[in-house]
Amino acid sequence: MPQVRVPLRRRERIADQTMAFFFEKPKGWPFIPGQTIDVTLIDPPESDFEGDTRTFSIASAPHEPEIMVATRMRGSAFKRVLATMAIGSPVLMDEPIGSFVLNTDAGRPAVLLAGGIGVTPFRSIVLDAASRGGGPPIWLFYANHRVRDAAFLEEFGAAADGARGAFELVPTMTHLDADSSWRGETGRIDLGMIRRHVPRGASPIYYIAGPSPMVASLHDTLVAAGIPKPDVRVEEFAGYA
Ligand SMILES: Cc1cc2nc3c(=O)[nH]c(=O)nc-3n(C[C@H](O)[C@H](O)[C@H](O)COP(=O)(O)OP(=O)(O)OC[C@H]3O[C@@H](n4cnc5c(N)ncnc54)[C@H](O)[C@@H]3O)c2cc1C
Repeated sequence: MPQVRVPLRRRERIADQTMAFFFEKPKGWPFIPGQTIDVTLIDPPESDFEGDTRTFSIASAPHEPEIMVATRMRGSAFKRVLATMAIGSPVLMDEPIGSFVLNTDAGRPAVLLAGGIGVTPFRSIVLDAASRGGGPPIWLFYANHRVRDAAFLEEFGAAADGARGAFELVPTMTHLDADSSWRGETGRIDLGMIRRHVPRGASPIYYIAGPSPMVASLHDTLVAAGIPKPDVRVEEFAGYA
């Protein structure tokens, strides 16, 4: 399917410097949770050297009524335009692509490892699995600096509460304020943290998404620990330092 024109329906602040954008869902436009789209601005009032197109993971699940993407707002012309354009204005969307999707055939558990806004494909994957039910167990390790940076945290918590063990959420904070009342995991996701939550012998497939340095370092850690390379899938959010 070629590019489609879709209007922006609404936008919402979902965490510190983080917004979700909801677009009309094109008709006959299937996607698999974990896939990405290119969004292109049409005649934007400003532009910068990165141009008018960005790649985003689809954060909404296929059963939801809109296409949602979520992003950190750090001041590029593209994002300024997205944050201020009139509701109802169209953007161009390329058809969903990508192979960063759950390997459901194997029936093996999934360990999802997210750095910050790298959690977007996992929202789609987790909500889709919850709506279908009966799939293999999923663990989501979700690292953020502080609680206020963690998009979708409550939604994931609710999914875990309703999943009766089929989905476990392990949020971790890496830069807590001194007066924080956080009682969960702290520090970066590492092997020790994964082993505290995922039973030995579970034989999961690992999926890592986030900024490139985080993805590369976790990938190398897992492979060095003896996880076969084909069992470690990655999605690098190129464009984030
Ligand atoms: C397969 C794929 C999937 C992607 N999915 C998503 C997604 O779902 N959501 C998403 O937000 N992005 C996603 N990205 C990245 C996205 O395409 C943009 O590159 C990214 O959001 C940066 O956007 P921007 O260039 O508009 O810069 P902005 O985010 O506006 O940043 C402005 C400037 O700040 C710099 N900057 C980068 N990191 C930091 C930092 N940690 N702190 C402060 N400043 C920083 C940037 O280099 C940039 O120059 C994906 C990329 C790929 C390849």
